[in-house]
Amino acid sequence: MGVSDTIGMVKEVVELVRKYNDLPLYQKIVELQGAVVELSGERIGLADKLQQAERRIAQLEEALRVTKVLRVGIDSYWTEDGDGPFCIGCWDTKRSLVRLVRSPGVMVFHTCPSCKTPVHKIGKPGEKDSRRF
Ligand SMILES: [Zn+2]
Repeated sequence: MGVSDTIGMVKEVVELVRKYNDLPLYQKIVELQGAVVELSGERIGLADKLQQAERRIAQLEEALRVTKVLRVGIDSYWTEDGDGPFCIGCWDTKRSLVRLVRSPGVMVFHTCPSCKTPVHKIGKPGEKDSRRF
């Protein structure tokens, strides 16, 4: 039974009781009507919170699934099946898997379209980083 069905039923009871001209009973029924409306509002609020929690759980489950397949390469993340490169900063701080894009220019480098971090050398997991630090 929905909230509006319940409120409608209580309104019918209020009308029936009013016809009996029993004032104390009528007042109690009106109080009951107010309580039903209040509880209905709480129920709607709880349904919203449940929906938000379910969305958050789905986001966390997706982040966990992605975390299990990510591998660290040279200044980038890659999936275990070789998809990438993805921005390390965006994943580590926002759990957002953002593909690094190749930037045109004299010097070839990649950039994160989200956080704008330039990445001058990337490599898949296991590749040797020949840079000197
Ligand atoms: Zn980024």
